[in-house]
Amino acid sequence: MYMPDFEYHAPKTLADACVLLDELGERAIVLGGGSDILHKLKNGHLTPEHVVSLKHMTHLTEIRHEEGRGIVIGALVTPHGVYTSKILQERYLSLPMASHEMGNPQVRNRGTVGGNICNASPLADLPPLLIALNASVKVVQYAGERIVPLEDFICGPGKTLIKRDEILTEVIIPDQPATGSTYIKFGLRKAGALAVVGVAVAVTVKDNVLADVRIVMGAVAPVPMRAKDAEALLRGQTITDVLLEQAADSAAAECKPITDLRGSAEYRRELIRVLTRRALRKAIDEGHV
Ligand SMILES: Cc1cc2nc3c(=O)[nH]c(=O)nc-3n(C[C@H](O)[C@H](O)[C@H](O)COP(=O)(O)OP(=O)(O)OC[C@H]3O[C@@H](n4cnc5c(N)ncnc54)[C@H](O)[C@@H]3O)c2cc1C
Repeated sequence: MYMPDFEYHAPKTLADACVLLDELGERAIVLGGGSDILHKLKNGHLTPEHVVSLKHMTHLTEIRHEEGRGIVIGALVTPHGVYTSKILQERYLSLPMASHEMGNPQVRNRGTVGGNICNASPLADLPPLLIALNASVKVVQYAGERIVPLEDFICGPGKTLIKRDEILTEVIIPDQPATGSTYIKFGLRKAGALAVVGVAVAVTVKDNVLADVRIVMGAVAPVPMRAKDAEALLRGQTITDVLLEQAADSAAAECKPITDLRGSAEYRRELIRVLTRRALRKAIDEGHV
């Protein structure tokens, strides 16, 4: 497998990158860490004339809290950067923990949060958890910028709402009441495994009542999928083991798994039932105020 010919650009600023993408349009693709894109270039699945690297945009490697906006994660933050972020460790430990389970050390040091989202793999680990945390993404282009809820942004396997002249710059997790969250991934190996199934849960608990809950299932639909019936069953209810079992059954009924080499649809459905119950309990234990 050889790299095809293309012109490589590494603009110094975001503004320069936007000008370039505006000029090049459909002929260019954006390069984050390259962990997904390089093999697509090598095996001929992508044949751009131009590749625009974001590597000089070091301000997109930061994670910070902004008053009135929430936690802002730069698109070029690596999974390792998420793992070592003090802000995330304090507020949403689930994100560092999920990042630490991604791929191998090379992927965790080379891949980026923006790439994990824009690649839009149904198996990706960060989107389910970020959707459970109600995150949005900021995308910029020469003519302006827009904020899109992540839940709407990913619209099919390998498909997002981003246009060829746009760059995802930030992921924003809004400030919200004390929230417990977790992501449980089931893979076929202990390390370096892709998700056969992943379940993310975020809850707000007050006086043993679930004031709010979001459940997002990964690898069981073309996009990360909210278990909306299960959420409706839980919202506003007093927490009991029976209720959590019912919600887990509901999530299993809602998901749309397929059979492939790594697991049958029935197996995945059962995993959703088991992992949803576990994830709810874990997030609730963390989210009690
Ligand atoms: C061996 C291996 C194991 C892996 N294991 C896991 C795993 O366990 N869990 C998991 O979730 N993923 C896994 N991955 C997938 C991958 O590493 C991640 O999806 C990674 O986060 C992608 O980020 P990147 O910056 O390298 O993306 P790139 O390869 O640079 O780009 C991916 C796509 O996103 C676009 N893009 C990237 N950044 C931007 C941006 N800022 N704005 C606009 N478009 C952009 C690119 O044009 C391209 O279409 C694995 C990959 C490999 C090779």
